Amino acid sequence: MKITDVIAHPLRAVPAKMQRTGTRDFPAFELVIVEIHTDSGVQGWGECLGRVGAIAYAGVVERVLKPLLIGQNPLDIARHWDRMRRALSGRSGGMLLEAIAGCDIALWDIAGKIAGLPIHRLLGSMGRTHLDCYASSINWASDEEAAEETRAALALGFRQIKVKIGKPVARAIERCRQIRDIAGPDIRLMVDSNWAYDVDETVQVARGLERLDYFWFEEPIPCEDIEGYRLLARKLDIRIAAGESDFTAWQVNPDGSIVQVTPTWSITGPATVAPSGASGSVTGTATSATIRDSRPARTVTRAPGSPR
Ligand SMILES: [Mg+2]
Repeated sequence: MKITDVIAHPLRAVPAKMQRTGTRDFPAFELVIVEIHTDSGVQGWGECLGRVGAIAYAGVVERVLKPLLIGQNPLDIARHWDRMRRALSGRSGGMLLEAIAGCDIALWDIAGKIAGLPIHRLLGSMGRTHLDCYASSINWASDEEAAEETRAALALGFRQIKVKIGKPVARAIERCRQIRDIAGPDIRLMVDSNWAYDVDETVQVARGLERLDYFWFEEPIPCEDIEGYRLLARKLDIRIAAGESDFTAWQVNPDGSIVQVTPTWSITGPATVAPSGASGSVTGTATSATIRDSRPARTVTRAPGSPR
């Protein structure tokens, strides 16, 4: 038996009397009904709360989750939950917060234009006149492609390069050795595994990175595993970088475990994290006009929307 279709129905009903809670008013009730079809003729129905913005949740169901389900056996339910959860890893704070971030950035842009100042001045400037940039990122592709991308970054003058790694662990360590051999000892190298590992695998990779003098290890484990990050920060010598999958200041670095905080403005909005949320050094991804007067063209090689 296979899943043949997934349809999301965003619903909105306006009650005669508005619901009023202690924190907000709800002029309408919203939810999403999910309809799943199979080639056996059996249909399943489900419900997402979708309390506000049901149409957005329906978009996630149909554009993000549906492709994971089509053609699959509907009875592998636990496997599907895991795959769907993984597809949304890094989104734990909610996609609606990302929608707010886009509005937040645009509003700061307006404020900066009205004031005639770059936004970093409005946010309480650190007085920096330049930023160190790194090439991001060498893809987790073939050895030949990785070598070619590394040489291209070096030819552009980058002195810092970030490398994407994944599984298997042994291949990841070998990839890091390959890049170090190409870059030489004077180039600062970092890795980003985008939550590929568990804690034990992270320790294995990190030991290799420490021997190869890598500077930081970004998002080794799922961003939701705060206890895992605490454990890694205590156990490892290499810096652990994280935070770009967090959505609000209070999510970032609650106890100082994370040394390198990497917020992504298009998730958080510029003001949400930068002034108050992080201790230690902060790096960000310049995807907008938010830090426009500190955005040299070479700062970030990735295009907005590409893997972070
Ligand atoms: Mg990253």
